Amino acid sequence: MVALTIDDYPRPTLEILVSLLAARRLPWTSALNADTVDDGYMYAPWSTGLSWANVAALPSALVEMANHGASHRDITDPAAVDAEITGSLARLRSAPPARVVQGWVPPGSDYPGLALKTPPQARGIADYQSSVAGRSILNDHAWALGQDPRPQDAVGPVITWPRDGHPVPVPGRQWLDFPHGAGLQSGGDPAGGFGGLCVAAAIARGHGAILGLHTAHLVGQGGQDRYDLGQLSGFLDHLTGLRDAGRIAVVRVSDWMSAKVVAR
Ligand SMILES: [Zn+2]
Repeated sequence: MVALTIDDYPRPTLEILVSLLAARRLPWTSALNADTVDDGYMYAPWSTGLSWANVAALPSALVEMANHGASHRDITDPAAVDAEITGSLARLRSAPPARVVQGWVPPGSDYPGLALKTPPQARGIADYQSSVAGRSILNDHAWALGQDPRPQDAVGPVITWPRDGHPVPVPGRQWLDFPHGAGLQSGGDPAGGFGGLCVAAAIARGHGAILGLHTAHLVGQGGQDRYDLGQLSGFLDHLTGLRDAGRIAVVRVSDWMSAKVVAR
């Protein structure tokens, strides 16, 4: 069972990725900051130019929206935590058309008592429970993801989780966006990149995986030489092939979280 999350700014996601996923009938979870589609808000150069109407046009049958915090900025004032977490959730839920928004996908931002960017990052549920910000996240959302290290970190490139009917509190994601497309392919083989290895491990273990991606790389932003459209398309074809062969189910994170059976 594999879930795909796409973080952050809507423009490259909406202009490039949406059609790639729709053509393959791949569901996905959009980790969206409520502020980033407001007129005049700019977190990064590629975060401008689209609107709530564009977000509303996302195909709701395939796309789940999750809260990624209001601003994607570090929050140091405890009084600002509520607007950043609960306020963002309320805005995402109320933006027409009203949507079910169940989940929290952590941004790379630090909050008072809850480090989601600066190592050591909050990972397990105890880290969330030990701060006001973390408790707000846990209390207000049906599920929350954690911040597990990326493959170049010591934990290694394969992050999977048991899917045996027990809940997995704040699971971390397997990142796909790495230099030279290493998350999406190895030597041109989409089965050999970190993502492909993770999915293969999930199948072998009877586990699930949650894959994470930033589309800013598709427009040359957010890091040097990460991946290109061909590498991404190849990996999506790989996932689609596994799905069509019955080897994996590709689901939204809310479905991944609520699954009661092992799904391969
Ligand atoms: Zn983000």
